[in-house]
Amino acid sequence: MLMMKERRPAFRTIEGWARSILREAGAIQECEEHGWMKDRTDPHARERALLIAHQDPPPGVSSDDAVAAVRDVMDSIGDTCPECSPNAG
Ligand SMILES: [Zn+2]
Repeated sequence: MLMMKERRPAFRTIEGWARSILREAGAIQECEEHGWMKDRTDPHARERALLIAHQDPPPGVSSDDAVAAVRDVMDSIGDTCPECSPNAG
């Protein structure tokens, strides 16, 4: 029940912002069945997300911090949905 709380345009955390950037760039994608974010392992999409973060960081955040946040989120997202994976649970 907790996982869908961040689907709104105003971001309270830089992680939420970073996730939206990654999604916009096509670097991550939601599992259609479960809603978990999956890494699409697309190097160009990642580059695009980092570029967006660098050029257009959220208010009050430096370009470097925005890029670091996008990298952090990228690292924390696996390339499979935990619930789709056969070994889950
Ligand atoms: Zn799934």
